[in-house]
Amino acid sequence: MLITPEYVFKDVTHITPEFLAGKGIRALVLDIDNTLTADRSQELPDEVAGWLAQMKEAGIGLTIVSNGAEKRVRPFAEKLGLAYLYRSAKPLPFALMAARRRMGVKRKQMAMVGDQLYADRMAAALYGIPGLMVIPRGPDLGAQVVLKRKWEKRHWQKYYDRGGKTL
Ligand SMILES: [Mg+2]
Repeated sequence: MLITPEYVFKDVTHITPEFLAGKGIRALVLDIDNTLTADRSQELPDEVAGWLAQMKEAGIGLTIVSNGAEKRVRPFAEKLGLAYLYRSAKPLPFALMAARRRMGVKRKQMAMVGDQLYADRMAAALYGIPGLMVIPRGPDLGAQVVLKRKWEKRHWQKYYDRGGKTL
């Protein structure tokens, strides 16, 4: 199934340079809401700041790809000094394509990091790259997201039923 997770991490800080090197991944496309920070928050948790620094040090290309509006995405991305794309229309894969071109990597060298199966995981699958899923950080503030989570539930369960672990 297009949206069953392939990899589930407790949060982004559990994605290590060693894991990425083992998969030949040189660049990450990053979701914001419930991935890098809580839904709609402009705060960057300290451990996530540390993780981003670790990724940069390891030479991993980073681009934010969010479905959020410019006013949500730009201040957050600029504060982090990261390239960004907003209103990305995930699960459509076009923003991933744009991010890949900007970072100058091959498709097989890139992965999507996000928390939503019907947006991030599906976009990754449609673009043919790994989706590194994280357990959502913080509460969902949007009614739409709450509803999507309900639909997602059995697909997360399928990962664990198949013996998948939270990495
Ligand atoms: Mg999200």
